[in-house]
Amino acid sequence: MYNFNYHKPKTVDQAVELMNSCDDPKILSGGHTMVPTLKQRLAQPSDIVDISNIGGLSNISLEENGSRLNIGSLSTHYNVSNSDTVIQKIPSLAYLASQIGDPQVRYRGTIGGSVANADPSADYPAALLALNATIVTNNAKYQAEDFFVDMFQTPLSENEIITNILFDIPVTGAYVKFRNPASGYAMVGVFVAKYNSSVIVAVTGAGPKAFRLSEAEELLTKSFDVNSLSELKIESDGLNSDIHASSEYRAHLVKVSLQDAVKIALK
Ligand SMILES: Cc1cc2nc3c(=O)[nH]c(=O)nc-3n(C[C@H](O)[C@H](O)[C@H](O)COP(=O)(O)OP(=O)(O)OC[C@H]3O[C@@H](n4cnc5c(N)ncnc54)[C@H](O)[C@@H]3O)c2cc1C
Repeated sequence: MYNFNYHKPKTVDQAVELMNSCDDPKILSGGHTMVPTLKQRLAQPSDIVDISNIGGLSNISLEENGSRLNIGSLSTHYNVSNSDTVIQKIPSLAYLASQIGDPQVRYRGTIGGSVANADPSADYPAALLALNATIVTNNAKYQAEDFFVDMFQTPLSENEIITNILFDIPVTGAYVKFRNPASGYAMVGVFVAKYNSSVIVAVTGAGPKAFRLSEAEELLTKSFDVNSLSELKIESDGLNSDIHASSEYRAHLVKVSLQDAVKIALK
């Protein structure tokens, strides 16, 4: 690890002001990605700005007359998976959070850190796309479909802090994850969300970034049942192919995970 200055501001404004005065600052929240990056000397920030002490960023509440769920960026995966509000309003999201990593990761890792990191195998990107999420920062709002630009790439500027994330509340939904047995990350993860007059299907782990499956969405919007998917063909072109799984296998996993997700959503 290289030397750096360490700061622990108490407000978002303080954190931003501080970062604007530093040469090359980096934000730290749960540290489950940032600390290994520092330990392996893959980054050499001049300053670490630990935002974990900032008040008000761990709240989970209903907003906009109860039509959207608001999750503070410092909410840990454990808090999301155990929140009564999340369990009641979007149980599939609570379930997704319960499937991230192991207990140590879930107790420390935060939704804001995970979303900012934009790992193509992370679980949350599928939920953010399927639940029409809005990512709110200290100076902007982004729609999920504009946020996951590419592998580990988002539109966030250097000193921008995610403060909270707003989710639409579907009529029903489900998340199915096929874990990479070595890392626990998603080899493939499929989130299906059914609304009154539409369906969104989002996939993580399979490609260089999370994406929506428009053909499946059309079929399921016409009729929300597993039989609607019988003719669906998932193309393997453009999907990841590595030592863990070929692109053809990932394409197969996407289809069977989506079928399972629809069955769960209908229960
Ligand atoms: C062993 C292990 C297994 C894991 N398994 C899974 C898994 O199965 N599924 C999964 O989805 N994830 C998994 N993760 C990742 C985990 O979810 C981390 O929590 C996540 O990568 C980063 O969150 P964090 O709060 O630890 O962020 P940090 O490590 O503190 O930060 C990560 C990045 O985001 C930036 N950042 C942090 N917070 C903010 C913010 N509020 N605004 C703007 N930028 C910010 C930081 O500057 C840094 O670049 C795993 C991690 C480990 C170590």
